[in-house]
Amino acid sequence: MIIAERKPINEIVAMVRDAERILVLGCRGCVSVCSAGGEREVELLCSLIRLGKKQAGQQVQVEGATLVRQCDKEYVDEIDRWQGQYDAIVSMACGVGVNFIANLRPADKVYPAVNTSFFGGSALQGEWSEQCAGCGDCVLHLTGGLCPVARCAKSLMNGPCGGSVDGRCEIHREIPCIWQAIHDRLSRFEQKAELDRVAPIRDWRPAGHGGPRKAVRNDLTI
Ligand code: SF4
Ligand code: SF4
Repeated sequence: MIIAERKPINEIVAMVRDAERILVLGCRGCVSVCSAGGEREVELLCSLIRLGKKQAGQQVQVEGATLVRQCDKEYVDEIDRWQGQYDAIVSMACGVGVNFIANLRPADKVYPAVNTSFFGGSALQGEWSEQCAGCGDCVLHLTGGLCPVARCAKSLMNGPCGGSVDGRCEIHREIPCIWQAIHDRLSRFEQKAELDRVAPIRDWRPAGHGGPRKAVRNDLTI
C-alpha cells in the first residue's frame, strides 16, 4: 500500500490561511489502512484546523468527509455534493488523490494534508517499511523476491557494494544489507547461479525517469 504521514498542523493551517470554509477530505484506501487519512484522521484534523484558526484569530467553518477513493473519477465526482460550500479542500489522500482533484476540479483549490512517502507494508504495529519503488520493470524473480531498487540504499543491480558489514547496510546501519539477504536467500534455494549473472545497465525510463508513466489496458477501455 501507499504509506503517508500527516503534515505538521502548523504547515496545514498556514496553507489554508485565506480560506474561511474548508472541506477536509479523507480517503478509505491506503491512507486509512496506514492511519494517515481515514475517517478518524479527518475528524482529528478538522478539530486541529478549527483550533489553529481560532488561535490565529481567524473565522473558519470546517466540514469533514471521506471518499471511498480519491484516485478514481467515479468517487471524486461525489465532491459535487458540497459544491459552493467550501473555498478550499484539504485532502488527506496520497498525492495521487490531490492530483486527481486538481485535474478534475480546475476551479477548486486543493491542498495536501499528508506527505506521501513510499510503497510499503507493516510487519509490526505502528511501523511500515518500504518494499517496492514502482520501477516498472520488476526483477524480483532474479533476486529471491527481495527488491534491490527500493531496499538497497544505492539501488544497486549488482550487489552488495564494498560497504556491507556483518549483513548491515553501510548507509543505514540499522537496516539489513538487502544484497546480503538476496545472497542468503538465493543460496538457500540453490539458485546461486543467479549471483554469477552480471545485471546489464538498466533502462530507468519505465521507473519514471522518462516522464510521467501511463498504463493502458485495451481489454478494459470503452
Ligand atoms: S524491482 Fe521494481 S517493481 Fe519489483 S519490487 Fe522492486 S521496485 Fe517494485
Ligand atoms: S550495504 Fe548493501 S544495502 Fe547498503 S548500499 Fe551497499 S549493497 Fe546496498
